[in-house]
Amino acid sequence: TQSCLDAVEAGDALNAFVHKTPDIALEQARAADARLAAGDAPSLCGIPLGIKDLFCTKGVPSQAASNILRGFRPEYESTVTAKLFGEGAVMLGKLNMDEFAMGSSNETSCYGPAVNPWKVDARQLTAGGSSGGSAAAVAGDLCLGATGTDTGGSIRQPAAFTGIVGIKPTYGRVSRWGTIAFASSLDQAGPMTKSVRDAAIMLGAISGHDERDSTSADLAVPDFEAALTGDIRGRRIGIPREYRMDGMPAEIEALWSEGAQMLRDAGAEVVDISLPHTKYALPAYYVIAPAEASSNLARYDGVRYGHRATAEAGDTLIDMYEKTRAEGFGKEVQRRVMVGTYVLSAGFYDAYYNRARKVRALIKRDFETVFADGIDAILTPATPSAAFGLGEMADADPVAMYLNDVFTVTVNLAGLPGISVPVGRDAAGLPLGLQLIGKPWDEAGLLNHAYVLE
Ligand code: GLN
Repeated sequence: TQSCLDAVEAGDALNAFVHKTPDIALEQARAADARLAAGDAPSLCGIPLGIKDLFCTKGVPSQAASNILRGFRPEYESTVTAKLFGEGAVMLGKLNMDEFAMGSSNETSCYGPAVNPWKVDARQLTAGGSSGGSAAAVAGDLCLGATGTDTGGSIRQPAAFTGIVGIKPTYGRVSRWGTIAFASSLDQAGPMTKSVRDAAIMLGAISGHDERDSTSADLAVPDFEAALTGDIRGRRIGIPREYRMDGMPAEIEALWSEGAQMLRDAGAEVVDISLPHTKYALPAYYVIAPAEASSNLARYDGVRYGHRATAEAGDTLIDMYEKTRAEGFGKEVQRRVMVGTYVLSAGFYDAYYNRARKVRALIKRDFETVFADGIDAILTPATPSAAFGLGEMADADPVAMYLNDVFTVTVNLAGLPGISVPVGRDAAGLPLGLQLIGKPWDEAGLLNHAYVLE
């Protein structure tokens, strides 16, 4: 813990930690020592972790990297962090992220962007988003693992950009209680780690039924670590043709083939499959996610949490709400609220929101069909490129940024587990990741396939 705390201090240039908790860390580390001395060795005993700022941590600032939550210290602990601490984990601090997890580069954060520890010349690169701080902290050796959340790719894309492992579990595997909501039907928390084995251990620690989240599944949690045998003989891996996009960089294409060959060499059968509704996933996601976000974010009104605008003589309650939200929310969050309220409005509900829901059902059915045909897992690229430069995309058309999620959003729309594994490097030496998509509740199988790629 002390060496990680030192690394955190020395690692300020990464802008990964936005709130450091050295006192809590040392206290938890001492408690972990005491547990070990008493012969109790839980799975994460004394393991120093970073916690994404989206998780409510009791008495510790939890701001979702938003100015609107400035000063908010929850009086409760999220289920994910409570479970981690129950297993003996140590919290080093809270990690940077895109504001309310909306973004793909960590550039919408009120703290400024996290910086990727990987560099090409002097160019500063994004660590991805929204869990950019988690990715930078793990890849930069500031901590042994971190929590992330993934609504449309926010664990898998930053993991790919920084050369680490990130898994988004099946929707319902991990409780959302105490995790600040972005889009409730898509959000899932998951581990971001240096290895598949670490991901398996951490996922085991945070999974399980929680009666405080009505969407949490009442299912037994398998021993994910024990599933890492490397034996995938006879498994069938699907390569979806719709993910082979026009203009895909040759190095991504080559990496994908290389990954398929690694699985073949381990005894799996690799087959071409079709997921015909893939091309509608991104537009459907960017209707559904903002719709749910606009509803979830209605609670930030200046009364219940965090920031409140200064009232002027003659201000009404509505003026206060408006000023608070105008001051507290950044540009991207405001854009999402506007898109969300628009697609949910009476006149456009059927044309946008209802249609997106139908598309979502078709996307889910595409996956069900291939799994029913005997496919065990699906292999795709994790991202359309390696990490891009900070500032390069931020001022461009927002849709260019949204295109980063083209390979990842389908998984959230269908509620499936997905993992990003670092497999190769691009010509400049930057890490590239591949994504494996699994059957519902088959994180064990998914991790074992990823173990072969690692
Ligand atoms: N980049 C996507 C978005 O901005 C996904 C974010 C996420 O998974 N939290 O919505």
